[in-house]
Amino acid sequence: DRIINPTETTDEEQFDRAIRPTTLQDYVGQEKVREQMEIFLKAAQMRKEALDHVLIFGPPGLGKTTLSNIIANEMNVGIKHTSGPVLEKAGDLAAMLTNLEPNDVLFIDEIHRLSPHVEEVLYPAMEDYQLDIMIGEGPAARSIKVELPPFTLVGATTRAGLLTSPLRDRFGIVQRLEFYNIKDLTGIVMRSAQILGLQIEESGALEIARRSRGTPRIANRLLRRVRDFAEIKSDGLITDKVADRALDMLDVDAKGFDTMDRKLLLTIIEKFSGGPVGLDTLAAAIGEERDTIDDVLEPFLIQQGFIQRTPRGRVATKHAYEHFGIIPSSGDLF
Ligand code: ADP
Repeated sequence: DRIINPTETTDEEQFDRAIRPTTLQDYVGQEKVREQMEIFLKAAQMRKEALDHVLIFGPPGLGKTTLSNIIANEMNVGIKHTSGPVLEKAGDLAAMLTNLEPNDVLFIDEIHRLSPHVEEVLYPAMEDYQLDIMIGEGPAARSIKVELPPFTLVGATTRAGLLTSPLRDRFGIVQRLEFYNIKDLTGIVMRSAQILGLQIEESGALEIARRSRGTPRIANRLLRRVRDFAEIKSDGLITDKVADRALDMLDVDAKGFDTMDRKLLLTIIEKFSGGPVGLDTLAAAIGEERDTIDDVLEPFLIQQGFIQRTPRGRVATKHAYEHFGIIPSSGDLF
């Protein structure tokens, strides 16, 4: 398993429960999102209404689930979790919606993966708190309307571009999560370490933050691995040296890239003369799923300026060549 894989593993869940922020105040970074949400939450509370529907998008591990839990917690209402692929039939969604208490939050992860007929049930539910249910079949079929309690739908997606526009248009609040800067990630590592009662120096947290691909979930995971290393190989104190040695051993380089990132970049540079190369060709060349490249690998590499997406395919940038100390040949782009 990749150490930098931003999707959650099961043994992380318990660890996660202890350190996951539960209030907006504990939610580190994402200032713009926090500032806006604070106002929207207060306004909804003052009016004693359900918060408007919220769409949160951003790469995995940046805090979409955490933010949705915070919304429910701050509103002092319940939350039910589900996801696009789990809601197979319209009835699955209807069952969840009719089970909500007034002003509850319904969190749908991977909302871009809802099937079209489930999505259609969602439209009147979001707009008028109403369900249109078809009963019977053939000529005897008729539709009945069911009133729902007011609720807040929080949808999360890795890519907003995959949502149909009728669905996107029904969200009153749209929040985009950005990769975290080193300072915020250092704060997250320090906070987690404190909750877990670990001994850590700020420089140790900084070293972990630097190599976390801008992603809190990865920062927390690296902290766990570095803790193991510190306990076994030194006296338990996490210093920059300990973190550095532990992360080198885990093959996470100074930029936070692991073997898969390096393979992707080197493949573009060496096999395709720096690109452009199409996503499918690239996926086949490195033996990785197209979606994994799109959702997990690329966003950070693009944000860091190592890859560019062009209409003709992916291109490795000057930074990528420099990272590996490779001098572009004359046939390459620059
Ligand atoms: P996503 O739903 O986007 O994949 P999560 O909400 O599950 O990501 O976040 C992953 C982990 O990272 C959480 O368990 C939490 O501990 C941590 N985390 C995420 N965002 C923040 C934040 N803003 N401040 C502190 N910790 C965070």
